[in-house]
This record gives sequence, C-alpha cells and structure tokens, in this order.
Amino acid sequence: MRAVQIDKPGSLELVERERPKPGPGQVLVQVHACGVCRTDVHLLDGELQIPSPPIVPGHQIVGTVLEHGPGGGETELYPAGARIGIPWLGWTCGRCRYCLSGRENLCDRARFTGMDIDGGFAQLTLADERYCFALPEDYPDLQVAPLLCAGLIGYRALRMAGESERIGLYGFGASAHIIAQVARYQGRRVFAFTRPGDDAGQRFARELGAEWAGSSLQDPPEQLDAAIIFAPAGELLTLALRSLAKGGVVVCAGIHMSDIPSFPYEILWGERSVRSVANLTRADASEFLALAPRVPVRTTVRTYALEQALRALEDIRAGALNGAAVLELG
Ligand SMILES: [Zn+2]
Ligand SMILES: [Zn+2]
Repeated sequence: MRAVQIDKPGSLELVERERPKPGPGQVLVQVHACGVCRTDVHLLDGELQIPSPPIVPGHQIVGTVLEHGPGGGETELYPAGARIGIPWLGWTCGRCRYCLSGRENLCDRARFTGMDIDGGFAQLTLADERYCFALPEDYPDLQVAPLLCAGLIGYRALRMAGESERIGLYGFGASAHIIAQVARYQGRRVFAFTRPGDDAGQRFARELGAEWAGSSLQDPPEQLDAAIIFAPAGELLTLALRSLAKGGVVVCAGIHMSDIPSFPYEILWGERSVRSVANLTRADASEFLALAPRVPVRTTVRTYALEQALRALEDIRAGALNGAAVLELG
C-alpha cells in the first residue's frame, strides 16, 4: 500500500509499505479520507517528538472496516464494511488514576494516532476498535473528517469556556470554523481574531456567524468572557488576557505553542484564568458527533491527493486556506 511517512524532522516521504495485519482487538481499515491537522505540522517540524520514527501521520481518519484481528468474534464492535472514524486518542491503559477518573485524555500511557501509532496518511491503517466511532450518516467522507480532531478537540475547548456568552476565537482555522457554528447554535456571541491583514479569513469568520472579526492585534469591540486560542503563538495568550472581562478564561487548545511572553499580574487579576486542553476522551467524541448534525455543522474543506500531503501541511502552516485540509484517498 502507499503511505506518507515522517522519518525525521522536516522529511516527509511517499513510500510503499506492506499491507498491515490487524492484531487482537484491531481492525484493518481502508482509508477514504484523512483530515490534516496543525499537530501534523508540529510533528513534521520536530516541535513534537515522534517516539519511534518513521511514523505515518494523520489522526482524522474516515474509512471502512476490511477485516478484524484474530480472536474477535462476539466482541467485534463494527462489522466488515462499516464506516468508522479514527481519532487522535488511539489507546489508553484503563488503569491509571486518570483513566479511572473519567480523564483518559490525560492517561500516563496514552498512545496517539499518527504519533505513536501509524495514522491515516495511507491507503490502509490499523486501529483498536474500542477507540473508533460510528460517524453521522448525512456527512460525506471528506466533510466528516475534520470533525474528528478540529471538531471534537475544539468542542472540548469550547466546553472549558463554561457558560461564557462572548467568546473570542484566536486563529480562525479548521477548529474555529467548526466551533464558531457550535457556539452560535448555543446562543453565544463570537468574535474572531486572525493574522493581521487576513481579510479573507475575517470575511469567512463573519460568514460563519462571527459578529466581529479583526486582527489579533486589535481590541474587540467589547470585553470577552472567554477566549480560545487555536493558533500556536504564545504572544496570543497575553493579547487574549487583555481582552477578557473579570472572571474570564483563556483556553489554549493546541498541543504546542511558542513561549509565552511575561506579562503584568494585573491582566490576570480579577479572577481571570488560563488553562490548556489536552487530547480528547471517548465521551467528548460521542457527545460532539451527536451534536454536529443537529447544529448542523457544515465544514469547508480543501482536498488534496496523498501525494500532495506536504502541500497540505505547508498551506496549514502558512494559514493559506479557509476551513480544513483533507487528504482524499480515492
Ligand atoms: Zn491510563
Ligand atoms: Zn489534530
């Protein structure tokens, strides 16, 4: 089968690999589409360490089950031919204090798709069935793929914003374009921040329900109750803090961020808080995948062939597309 792998920082190559063999509890999946995420860019750039390269990136996988590993029988969750989604959370230990307290996203031994386990930039992939999901039927493969990370980790970040009415979204990429729609559906007011001069991005944000869109260097027209930072730039944290009303929260939704500049205590004072969001739980995914068709969330996608994976990653790094990038595996 054909796959794209990262063998060292900066090096992405198209390779021919042997057909993977599912082990106990695993399914072999024919990949139809795989969303491309900012995290994949961090893996390629070496900002996130790949434990044992080479690895096939990609953790927003849509495909159909071809076969099960040995010993499945009655415990099989998805029959051959079923369409499933494979997300970032690929395996957890089920025994650590985090797993036992509903926080499997923080599992000490968690393994992640496309970083610890080969992912979806390939014609075929393997997955532990227990971490896969049935997908809402009215979404085609390409449109549903971005829900699997941009959507559901974005949704977890939105949940951490509590009951906030006025929400600022910093970095209007794949996640924000989905979460803006969910926030509007929940009756919140959305303020979108893009790179300075990104008029197309600001227009796109307004189309998706933002009542105000501007540059991240601008002050919003009123104070925010929460800000979610999707872009990996540490200086956004201090800008967002300065835009918050008392009691507000800044949620950092990305897995990597450049260093945060020091800031005066007075911008945190007034019970403002800062937190990060890490990974997802299976409960997050079930909740979000049930909610998305009710909104209904509409994803804007740009499709790329497997051979164009590098191009897709470069476009994300450059902020050159509105919505999400998705590899189409044919
Ligand atoms: Zn655990
Ligand atoms: Zn992701």
